Amino acid sequence: MTQILVTGGAGFLGSHLCDRLIANGNDVVCVDNYFTGSKENIRHLIGNPHFELMRHDVTFPLYVEVGQIYNLACPASPIHYQFDPVQTTKTSVHGAINMLGLAKRLKARILQASTSEVYGDPEVHPQTEDYWGRVNPIGIRSCYDEGKRCAETLFFDYWRQHKLEIKVIRIFNTYGPRMHPNDGRVVSNFIVQALKGEDITLYGDGQQTRSFCYVDDLIDGMVAMMNSDPAFVGPVNVGNPGEFTMLELAESVVRLTDSRSRMVFMPLPQDDPKRRQPNIEMAKKQLGWAPKVGLEDGLRETVAYFRKLLNTA
Ligand code: NAD
Ligand code: UDP
Ligand code: UDP
Repeated sequence: MTQILVTGGAGFLGSHLCDRLIANGNDVVCVDNYFTGSKENIRHLIGNPHFELMRHDVTFPLYVEVGQIYNLACPASPIHYQFDPVQTTKTSVHGAINMLGLAKRLKARILQASTSEVYGDPEVHPQTEDYWGRVNPIGIRSCYDEGKRCAETLFFDYWRQHKLEIKVIRIFNTYGPRMHPNDGRVVSNFIVQALKGEDITLYGDGQQTRSFCYVDDLIDGMVAMMNSDPAFVGPVNVGNPGEFTMLELAESVVRLTDSRSRMVFMPLPQDDPKRRQPNIEMAKKQLGWAPKVGLEDGLRETVAYFRKLLNTA
């Protein structure tokens, strides 16, 4: 049994990760300041002897004793990370420094939840890990993109300088149950709008693309990366290469929910990437991992979750 720290453990991905790690026979310490996460996501684990919950902000030092660290603490949706952009950068950068300092003291292996946003609005398509990206350093997405890029820099410097055992994954858009209904991300927005019969808000002309990974697949990839050969540190893309326009996504959601919602077009937010698709050859080769859940099946599960949450069953 390993003692494992999950920062951001009360969030969407973090709560699924806590479930998986406990199911695999580990003890989990979940740290969260509840900025975008919620106790609801982990309520079923409270009282479990293998689960411990701490309210803590990772921008402050943390002294606990664990064998592995998954660093997920950071708001992930544009409306939330842009709400207090200075805090977003602090969470990524100071949070990474504190968790790396903790890992250094404990000689613990540490995994960073990085993001496809490090590629910015990419000129290389699909994105491979050796692409350095095209990121605006002073725009409204920069607090997140540059914060995550700096966190990657810190991880690699602790690896080179202090011989720390690091793992870096670049997560592409992931969706599923426990996404926050109001966090503004496209899958939750469209499903909630469709279920409530509200207008479906397409930003721009709806022709921009994203590649959507179902949460269970993502957690498989994340855990496989943590437990991979120490010589393999990444960064490695983890995502589903199926690429869809936002218009196609909206059409699928309308069909699966049998909704009468109309589609409306709204202005495209600044610096919104036009295309995004992971090249996952490295994850396949190094981790033996590939996603299994197609968009339709994953959306069905997610719609079922939101139906229950919104009481529209
Ligand atoms: P989320 O917002 O649901 O989860 C983030 C969690 O971190 C929340 O529980 C939040 O309260 C917590 N948190 C934020 N700031 C904190 C701080 N200073 N101290 C302690 N806790 C803090 O988002 P998510 O989708 O679960 O994302 C988890 C991680 O994965 C993030 O680091 C995100 O950047 C990364 N990621 C997610 C996606 C995706 O599509 N879901 C894509 C790329 C990267
Ligand atoms: N740190 C922490 N928990 C620990 C050890 C360190 O939160 O168990 C923090 C500590 O506050 C420091 C940061 O991690 O600011 C970086 O630690 P490191 O040892 O790398 O650097 P230094 O302490 O020399 O600045
Ligand atoms: N988007 C949209 N309508 C919405 C929310 C988002 O058309 O109600 C678009 C957004 O402009 C972007 C894509 O969907 O092109 C994905 O947005 P999201 O915020 O989910 O993630 P990210 O931009 O970080 O990939």
